Amino acid sequence: MSGFNEILTSISSLSKISFSVRKYVDFQKNKYVRKALIDIMNDKEFFKKLLFPSSTDLHIRTICPICGLGKKNIDKLQESHNSSEIKLEGYCPIHGNYEIIVNENNDEYVDINTQFRDLTKGVAMIEEDKKENTLTIMLDGGDWSGIWAQRMHTEGLVRLGFKEFPIRFFAPVILDWSGAKFSKSLYLKNDAYKNINSAFINYNNFINFYGLDGINKLWSEVKSWIDEPKKFFRNYSIDYFQDVMEGNCCE
Ligand SMILES: [Zn+2]
Repeated sequence: MSGFNEILTSISSLSKISFSVRKYVDFQKNKYVRKALIDIMNDKEFFKKLLFPSSTDLHIRTICPICGLGKKNIDKLQESHNSSEIKLEGYCPIHGNYEIIVNENNDEYVDINTQFRDLTKGVAMIEEDKKENTLTIMLDGGDWSGIWAQRMHTEGLVRLGFKEFPIRFFAPVILDWSGAKFSKSLYLKNDAYKNINSAFINYNNFINFYGLDGINKLWSEVKSWIDEPKKFFRNYSIDYFQDVMEGNCCE
């Protein structure tokens, strides 16, 4: 997180907006998230088709409460539920069988995958929004917009009984030379970006190359997107940022 914290601190001072970071382990303790998860499990067939049409089950996992060991696949996990709780029974090769209970008021660890997180986050946002002086906004990359937001997210919330939806903004997507999303996992997997200026591959490289003034340059570029909405509702190639950083940009 250290790179992220530095970026957030820089942006916070430029925007004069304070920030705090909540980790997933805290997010999963949120009672609205847990309630949504229980409701989803009680309507399993619908949500399986909606969120994971090609999968055999919903993606819900846990870890050994003693050592934290968990499996990526859910084969060895027994799940049962009723209207107020989910029971997950797992097996740890070191500590043997264990049992995790998920209800609205406890905080035993439960892990859910991206689609699940997105939907339960929507629920938490709607509920948090009811507090006085609170306005929640979900901000995601543009690859979450379109069909996902329209069908999965919204239909899921409707099915869970909501009639209002969180405010969502979608940031422009950064694309590589082929028009695909500039993706960290792709880069890590197979040297796919070996021809791209290494300053754009990770934060440390970026700072070594452009210094903190590089952040200021990015900030003024991104700020211009808000001033001119047509710049916000589009995507950008990695080459575009090269030009921004070199001061050759852009109209
Ligand atoms: Zn264990």
